[in-house]
Amino acid sequence: MNFSRLRYAAVASLVVLMCATSHARSTGPIRSQAVNMVVIHSTGGPTCNAKTGQVMWVKSGTLAANMRFIESHPKLGIHYMIDRDGSLVRSVPEDQIAHHVFGHSARSIAIELINDGDGADPYPEAQLSAVTALIHDISKRRGITRQGIKRHSDLDLGVMPCDTSKRRKVDPGAAFPFEAVLDAAFATQ
Ligand SMILES: [Zn+2]
Repeated sequence: MNFSRLRYAAVASLVVLMCATSHARSTGPIRSQAVNMVVIHSTGGPTCNAKTGQVMWVKSGTLAANMRFIESHPKLGIHYMIDRDGSLVRSVPEDQIAHHVFGHSARSIAIELINDGDGADPYPEAQLSAVTALIHDISKRRGITRQGIKRHSDLDLGVMPCDTSKRRKVDPGAAFPFEAVLDAAFATQ
């Protein structure tokens, strides 16, 4: 992909953000602590199959199905979700806590990307441009440093309950060009 184009795509993606449907639903309390972190997730990832007791991989699913799941979940939540084509939807407002990462939700904003998260499923350029623009926007508005942008896998080092040789959270996975996205997101700060 052409990373030099990420910055130029940022403006177009922000227009999408402004026009995206805003879900009124809230899943958490108003924040009492300042946000100092953004956490990147993918919708796909490993889980324990309750029947076999083996680790199985859950594929990305569609944006609509993932939004239905997360917005009907009694505890979990997400602030933004970005589809493969770069379209972006909002869920929990930024000033409310969404539970998306163990131990860090109170001070972080969650971005979920539609991807298998297995290191093989590629992230399309439109999706990377949109997440770059969103990281740029949030970090600028809230004074978050490059070091404050994390992958879920950077923060949750736990292992699978059904197979302790495997990590519980590996998203967004090795196919996500983390450093290149951060280079582009912080190039114009
Ligand atoms: Zn995650």
